[in-house]
Amino acid sequence: MWRRSVATGYMCFGCRSGGPKGFPGFHAMPSCSVPAIPAGKITALQAMGIWRRHFEKRGVTETEHSCNYIIAHLLGAKTVESLERGKLTEFLSREKVEQVWKLCTRRLSRMPVQYVIEEWDFRDLTLKMKPPVFIPRPETEELVDLVLTDLQKKAGTGGDTQHTCLEVGCGSGAISLSLLKSLPQLKAIALDKCQAAVNLTMENALRLGLDDRLQIYHIDVMKDVETLLSLCRPISVLVSNPPYLFSEDMASLEPEVFRFEDHAALDGGKDGLQVIRQILTLSPQILSNHGRVYLEVDPRHPLLIQPWVEAHVEGLHYMETRHDITGRPRFCILQKEKSLGDRELCLGLRN
Ligand code: GLN
Repeated sequence: MWRRSVATGYMCFGCRSGGPKGFPGFHAMPSCSVPAIPAGKITALQAMGIWRRHFEKRGVTETEHSCNYIIAHLLGAKTVESLERGKLTEFLSREKVEQVWKLCTRRLSRMPVQYVIEEWDFRDLTLKMKPPVFIPRPETEELVDLVLTDLQKKAGTGGDTQHTCLEVGCGSGAISLSLLKSLPQLKAIALDKCQAAVNLTMENALRLGLDDRLQIYHIDVMKDVETLLSLCRPISVLVSNPPYLFSEDMASLEPEVFRFEDHAALDGGKDGLQVIRQILTLSPQILSNHGRVYLEVDPRHPLLIQPWVEAHVEGLHYMETRHDITGRPRFCILQKEKSLGDRELCLGLRN
């Protein structure tokens, strides 16, 4: 049974933004009172009850799911539903009780449950999670689906099956590793400007046995343009879930996101397009002809990106906007086309 984010709270769809309050001070950790460990024996169910009530009192969100995932993890399962019958009503060893208290105390500080249990599921993969590396969100699974569907279609029509994918901002490696897992012919290059993300993607690739088809680089797409261009031979797919929040929305992030996740993976500048514009500007030099760019963006972005590309990026054609399962425009697909100059030359329109 997979671990899934729940429909409300800090990990819901699009909930990079929209939390009720901002918190000053990056990674500030308030002191919080912790319930005393009961002197006598307790069952997992009783421990969950104590912590659920405490979380509720302290305003921690997703109380039930948090407790369930922590207990399941400590009892060696992914979800409480998949635990052996009767496990929840058995007495916990002293050591287990102490572990429950340790992990729940972390959650009390508003640490996301994914960091507390140090792993999370994305599509069919279980990935190691470490702060401050961005925790993959459910809608990014839809971005992977879009890329997979297109690449599988190409393979089905007998096209070239040797594709190389470039991911800008790989975080934990969720996108690249999912693509590699589903497409045994694919090769991938993954970049991130954060060393912790590069390390985590490498660790996840090794754990999943996908490292032989993945190259990972510590590169900042905004600064290391020459290095980037020299590494990336013609690429058929460029995929990215870049930082795309509008800077002014950073202040209203949920404490879980604001205090623990890397702001550089979230903040896309004044209009959220800073990294997106750079990716699109470089795309024609990186992509092979008819190669495509797949981006996850804010719902306000597609209407801004299309005219901007038409005015500023020669050789890149805005193909379509796709919606997420909640019906919001969240994904942009663009394709490299021969530039006007090339086309005119081909048609013999130029002297
Ligand atoms: N590509 C990673 C993910 O979607 C990281 C995204 C980011 O850092 N903005 O999980």
